Amino acid sequence: MEMLESTELTREAASQTAQNEVVLNAAYINGDWVTIEAPATDTDNADSSKTNNHALYDPNSGEVIATTRLCTSVHVTQAVEAADAAFASWSKTAVSERAHYLNAIADAMEQQFDKLVGLSVLNNGKPIEEAKIDVSDAIACYRYYANLITGQATWSEVSTLESGIRLLKTYAPVGICALITPWNFPMVTTSWKLAPALAAGCTVLLKPSEVTLLPELMLGNILSEIDLPKGVVNILPGAAEVGTAMTSHPLIDKVSFTGSNVVGEKVMVQAAKGIKDISLELGGKSAIIVCADADIDYACDLIIGGIFTNAGQICSATSRLVVHQDIAEQLYGVLKVKTTSLQIGDGFAVDTLLGPLVSEQQLNQVKKYFDIATTENLACLTGGELVTGSGYFAMPTVYTNVPTTSQLWMEEVFGPVLVSTTFADDVEAIRLANDSKFALAATIVSTDETAALEMALQIKAGHIWINEQQIVLPEAGWGGFKQSGIGRELGGDGLSAYQKSKHVLLTD
Ligand code: NAD
Repeated sequence: MEMLESTELTREAASQTAQNEVVLNAAYINGDWVTIEAPATDTDNADSSKTNNHALYDPNSGEVIATTRLCTSVHVTQAVEAADAAFASWSKTAVSERAHYLNAIADAMEQQFDKLVGLSVLNNGKPIEEAKIDVSDAIACYRYYANLITGQATWSEVSTLESGIRLLKTYAPVGICALITPWNFPMVTTSWKLAPALAAGCTVLLKPSEVTLLPELMLGNILSEIDLPKGVVNILPGAAEVGTAMTSHPLIDKVSFTGSNVVGEKVMVQAAKGIKDISLELGGKSAIIVCADADIDYACDLIIGGIFTNAGQICSATSRLVVHQDIAEQLYGVLKVKTTSLQIGDGFAVDTLLGPLVSEQQLNQVKKYFDIATTENLACLTGGELVTGSGYFAMPTVYTNVPTTSQLWMEEVFGPVLVSTTFADDVEAIRLANDSKFALAATIVSTDETAALEMALQIKAGHIWINEQQIVLPEAGWGGFKQSGIGRELGGDGLSAYQKSKHVLLTD
């Protein structure tokens, strides 16, 4: 994972990019920016709730950065028609041509690295260093799939026990795809879907989260710049109405959704009509197990990275700490010191380690859980309240000795809130780690690698880190068990999600 160097990352520069380069009030359909008109009622109706105006906020200050209009189902119809028309030729392009476009997207993102990072900090609030990792990871994802598809031959021979016949296998693109992404990792979650979909030969409708449109809309400029054939990718800045129109459209073959379980369940129902192929990347309540032999100082760094990165707004956040009873008190002491010394602040400030939550809605969600913790009488090691002043900031928070019946143990908070409990032996540690309706990821901290690998076999999770921060490589499939979703992104599985195998049997 190579990180690019950046030069100018300031709020002023990012605001200039937002004003001068991001195309607002438009959807990217059939290779052009199509103006989203205000509804006819807009001019003669003073009720702003009846307009399609939509404000984008700087979470660092709570101020409006820009106002744009959101698409409607009419734009979805136009985009599906464009993707349908483009499918015939794009699905037949040589893999070398698809790889060329994927590398061209990566090249353009490298050239616009600072602008993409700046827009992400401005619109999402994440600290500069985290936004740099995001953009670098997205670039790596486009390059990975360019490389992977290049190695794929059209036909492969399947060995059989029958004589006198040949069995051949090929992979066909699944068709026209509806890609729907959340706000917590703009550009990253998009790349995990878009890169394999394009590599497979699919055409797509992409609906980024309406909360973080600025970085995602820059992708439209990039696609124009690299001359991607018209209609192959259509970007629809919209909210639930647009998502619903996409997932229920009869010409959509595949829905790939990343977001909350509440919406994921709706998406699954919407996609059921017409039996659409579906991938769901949903919530998490992942555990970090700290064994008795762990280095306590290092374990605390991993705990902090796992829950406070992106202000805890990570699907794989290790939001449940399961620590051996013999070291718990000592670990809590170190964890408290390290947590209280985290620099909270504006994402653009170079020393910031913990930025704001993405929106007022997310702030209220975290506040709700602080109130529940008070009602449940949880022991608060540190934090437990919002930061007063402007912006959407919450204190990094740790609750200890949390019962497994607590709402905070069971539910995804999606904020900088860690709940902790202790264990006596490995059996109990595994039972506690698996005590969740989610099963996305886990971390194990132990100096005994053999024992940690044995634990990893027994933990229900799609990705497990042993003594490491949450590094996600494009080669490693991503996805969970239980209610964390259906399917895998990234790796070879991520490409298969956009392909259907075909077999041909012929006489030898
Ligand atoms: P969300 O479910 O509110 O929204 C996700 C997307 O769905 C947005 O683009 C939204 O506009 C769209 N949407 C809303 N209603 C819709 C509908 N009825 N039909 C179709 N689309 C609709 O999620 P969020 O708040 O943006 O993101 C946070 C959630 O995402 C968390 O639960 C987090 O765990 C999850 N997430 C999971 C992964 C993963 O890989 N498993 C990664 C990132 C985020």
